[in-house]
Amino acid sequence: MRVVREVAEARRVRRDLRGSVGLVPTMGALHEGHLSLVRRARAENDAVAASIFVNPAQFGPEEDLAKYPRNLARDLTLLESEGVDLVFTPEAASLYPLGFQTWIVPGPLGEVLEGARRPGHFRGVLTVVSKLFNVVEPDRAYFGQKDAQQAVLIRRMAADLDFGLTIVVCPIVREADGLALSSRNAYLTPEERRAAPVLHSSLRAAAAAWGAGERRGHALCEAARSVLGSEPLAVPDYLSAADPETLAGIGPAADRVLVSIAVRFGTTRLLDNILLPDGSEL
Ligand code: AMP
Repeated sequence: MRVVREVAEARRVRRDLRGSVGLVPTMGALHEGHLSLVRRARAENDAVAASIFVNPAQFGPEEDLAKYPRNLARDLTLLESEGVDLVFTPEAASLYPLGFQTWIVPGPLGEVLEGARRPGHFRGVLTVVSKLFNVVEPDRAYFGQKDAQQAVLIRRMAADLDFGLTIVVCPIVREADGLALSSRNAYLTPEERRAAPVLHSSLRAAAAAWGAGERRGHALCEAARSVLGSEPLAVPDYLSAADPETLAGIGPAADRVLVSIAVRFGTTRLLDNILLPDGSEL
């Protein structure tokens, strides 16, 4: 496994990889969710590249950039044991050198949900992901449904800007109690951690309503909200039931829906979502 920090060196190592290349972009602090992406990439490509980069451009001024968990040595051990060929882990200054001023700005898909709460977030995400695509030139890139809006935006960008690669979206990996794995779960106090599975149970309530024939977006959200309301530590930020491609509201004839929630536990904000009917994929 080659570990490289500079753009030029990453390009050189990439050129020596034979056959198809799968790329897994991450911010490190790796968990089984990330590793599920790596395994899928390993299964579907001749070579696998991963990136570890806590991208300052996607954090707002009040957000957790400084305290975001970092553990490069552990991450590299994990990636090596998964058979990764190339790890690109640049310094911020090599991706954003002095004078950097060109950005990828999302369209309307980036203005709702997370985009509405985190101004500039998706501009930062799309810009860094397009830079990683340009450096690594993968055939396929792997993202998690955990960040569903991000995956939808990246797929849109890849099509709009002719990146000529396939975006693969992988299912959400959860703890046994239903909590979606996230590097940010480490911020939870033990009490908040005990309460956090309510995200998943609230989404299951929306799934049950969908299964019973409910197709009104607000009613699907209400089903989830009533379960969230039973947990005093959970402070809902938003609940949304939307078309998984357009992220617009659904009509009575919808055959699929993406129910997304953002919930605060103290100072920690967690995301979760479910794509219905159960078993559908982004
Ligand atoms: P991050 O390091 O948080 O930027 O995540 C890197 C990639 O891993 C993103 O595409 C995430 O959507 C994906 N990911 C994060 N958590 C999970 C999870 N629990 N299950 C599946 N994929 C995940």
